[in-house]
Amino acid sequence: MARNYYMAGNWKMHMTRSEAATLAQDLVNKLADGKHKYLVAPSFTLLETVSAVVENTNIRLGAQNCAPEEQGAHTGEVSVLQLKELDVQTIILGHSERRHIYKEDDALINKKVKLALKHGFEVILCIGELLEEREAGKVEEVCERQTVKGLEGVDAGDLHNVVIAYEPVWAIGTGKTATPQDAEAVHGFVRKVIARLYGQDAADKIIIQYGGSVKPDNAAQLMAMENIDGALVGGASLKTDSFIPIAKFS
Ligand code: PEP
Repeated sequence: MARNYYMAGNWKMHMTRSEAATLAQDLVNKLADGKHKYLVAPSFTLLETVSAVVENTNIRLGAQNCAPEEQGAHTGEVSVLQLKELDVQTIILGHSERRHIYKEDDALINKKVKLALKHGFEVILCIGELLEEREAGKVEEVCERQTVKGLEGVDAGDLHNVVIAYEPVWAIGTGKTATPQDAEAVHGFVRKVIARLYGQDAADKIIIQYGGSVKPDNAAQLMAMENIDGALVGGASLKTDSFIPIAKFS
């Protein structure tokens, strides 16, 4: 089944507005002839700046989180309505840093997923096990739970707006990458979970990105795996020199 590769950069809490504008413009220039689907996800305060740069290009604009409510007394949160105003198209939800540093649980993430989909956003739902869960043989159990609970109540008709990112927590920002074979095993398993929930056709279509220390020298081997359909890239997405060879892997 041919699925288009989806290469995404999660800029996390990095960069000033001028740095973000420069990086975004560089990516626009260098990815104009790129063959895949592309996304950058800057911090909330950079969205307006980056939005103006990537408008009408082949690079989508993503946010790294959203509030579970549309509006109201939620100090420090950012609403889907506010993101829509900035032409954000995609929202990354359930990133391991949200789950483990900010203690977001599956129920909260699910609430955000449903709200974002209701407002027409594409959602990148991040899943992945901790090192101790891997060592305890719980990779499938954790990834299944995060997928099932993250998508609870999501209609089949909205699944075309859902991307899954498998990001083993022990590989994020550590320089340790899952081997292509280990990642492929989890991706294949998650696709089976989607098939059970939504049917084989939906499972064949859904994009499952890999994330966790993706670099120019390991991207092609990971992308060669049958069930790996793209990458969610943190550290290496902050510089054109490292993101472009990943985004244009061959
Ligand atoms: C991420 O933040 O989603 C990520 C995968 O980070 P890194 O590429 O730096 O491991």
